[in-house]
Amino acid sequence: NFAVTITRKSDDELGELAKSIETLATDLNYLKRERNEFLASISHELRTPLTYIKGYADILLKRNPPQEEREKYLTIIVTEINRLNLLIKDLFELAKIDKNSFVINKEKIDLSIFLKEIERKLTPAINEKNMNFNVHFQNNLNLFADPIRLEQILLNLLDNAIKYSKTGSLVALDVWKEKKSIHFLIKDNGKGIPEKDIPYIFNRFYRVEKSRKRSLGGTGLGLSIVQELVHAHGAEITLNSKEQMGSEFEIIFKENEK
Ligand code: ADP
Repeated sequence: NFAVTITRKSDDELGELAKSIETLATDLNYLKRERNEFLASISHELRTPLTYIKGYADILLKRNPPQEEREKYLTIIVTEINRLNLLIKDLFELAKIDKNSFVINKEKIDLSIFLKEIERKLTPAINEKNMNFNVHFQNNLNLFADPIRLEQILLNLLDNAIKYSKTGSLVALDVWKEKKSIHFLIKDNGKGIPEKDIPYIFNRFYRVEKSRKRSLGGTGLGLSIVQELVHAHGAEITLNSKEQMGSEFEIIFKENEK
């Protein structure tokens, strides 16, 4: 004879279990909805450039327009193909992050060498908009981080700082050490981010100006990738911004060691 006895500690245990299952179901529904929304955004984002490409290619084929117009249409086609390329690159990044199949290879980075290189890479974009780029850092700073990822994080934020600022304005990068942390501050005097948009700004495909954004050529994925890369380092990113005043993104790397 075999008997199993389940001792119930309190009458409410089943109730508790039911509650947990309910919470789990809600979470799963939320995730499902989020995934569906993400897939809908991807297909929309991929379809829009394709619509342009197809439309202008059709005109070129069927109407044989004059040289001047041909050039205009071909330029649009190339721009949209570049856009698709960027989008696919960013989506691939996110897919790698989601699958946890990307590795963070931390090594000791000499920040003075590293930051000079960042400055050099941004010079053409800064010059093109007649802007000033101020880089300030303490000497002899080292950081344990993945140099490729750190570069990706900083270039993404600095590209945005340039992109969303007026010609002739200032972009600054400050790096300093506190007791147990290294701080990066990326600052611009650009158009800023409205208060109502700030809570969502790191979400995938989120943009402040949905329609006007196309001309600036972003994918709306940059900040979500930045946030994932920052978190993968165990670091934090925060945003301070005022519309028409500018934005400050701060990244804090805690415990500066392997
Ligand atoms: P995008 O490819 O559109 O630049 P991001 O994910 O990098 O995508 O940024 C999301 C949105 O956040 C941008 O579309 C823009 O509206 C806003 N944004 C990001 N950085 C800045 C900044 N430095 N100043 C003003 N707005 C910004």
